Amino acid sequence: MSGTEMAYLKGEVMPLADAKISIMTHALHYGTAVFEGIRANWNAEHEQLYLFRMREHYERLRKSAHALMMDLPLSDDQLCEITIDLVRRSGFKQDVYIRPMVYKSAELLGVRLHGVEDDFLCFLIPWGAYLDTTGGVHVVTSSWRRTEDQSIPVRAKVTGAYINSALAKTEAETAGFDEAIMLNEDGHVSEGSGENIFIVNDGVIYTPPSSDNILVGITRNTVVELAEQELGIPTVERTLDRSELWLADEVFMTGTAAHVTPISSVDRRVINGGETGPITAQLERLYFDAIIGNRDAYAHWLTPIYTDGYTDD
Ligand code: PMP
Repeated sequence: MSGTEMAYLKGEVMPLADAKISIMTHALHYGTAVFEGIRANWNAEHEQLYLFRMREHYERLRKSAHALMMDLPLSDDQLCEITIDLVRRSGFKQDVYIRPMVYKSAELLGVRLHGVEDDFLCFLIPWGAYLDTTGGVHVVTSSWRRTEDQSIPVRAKVTGAYINSALAKTEAETAGFDEAIMLNEDGHVSEGSGENIFIVNDGVIYTPPSSDNILVGITRNTVVELAEQELGIPTVERTLDRSELWLADEVFMTGTAAHVTPISSVDRRVINGGETGPITAQLERLYFDAIIGNRDAYAHWLTPIYTDGYTDD
């Protein structure tokens, strides 16, 4: 690892190892924080690290903060500048994962949102593949239902809500699967513990709508656009039943951490003979090319980090 893990805390930039907060921090006790995961992807040929759709992540962070009645005094431009500076200073020449957060920073006890001071922090670490996608992943329908919007705002990426994801992920992994798929209270397919889900049938792509309690993923939007623009394949947003996953031609997941991940079995039902299907394979390739700057048409999604040595030819 050549590079330094860096953090932005209380308005200052420092090595991640020095970034400390009090054990009385409100967010630690009550899950009162909202966050994002942003990737910067390394292209060895370009000798460049590209931040992917940073602005969209900060737009979602702002909405999440709004849902928890938080102040986010920094503008989107300032948030982007802080992030670029942090990644640049870290000096990594490999894939990194950036974790921005708005958290209730006040050192006080009391379960509430109002009248509790908040702050912005950000840090980054090198991070490669989240799921081992060689040969596709094995998923299982969770016994845990995806959090309903009546309980916790599902469109906001709230730290406390991730106990739902953690329960499902642990249940799946300790039972020998790679990932969990959660249904909503209606029994319809919602999403993975940290990914959105898609199926392909007769050349059409389907994915659950936001009203089925999903977090509306930025990778999800990216894949919908790539499928439409590059493959001429529309994505239909509609409620999906569990057994549609079993019987689909192809099933895949998307997420910042997971990229485009082919699913080779659902509840032990093998999908497409265990092989990655043709549309999933094309989307995986298109997505990977786009995030490392090998697709000019999508350069507007990228923010190059290193100004020295960068060539765009
Ligand atoms: N659902 C959940 C619960 C997630 O945590 C994530 C990861 N942020 C996603 C979906 C995918 O969202 P994105 O593509 O924006 O990373």
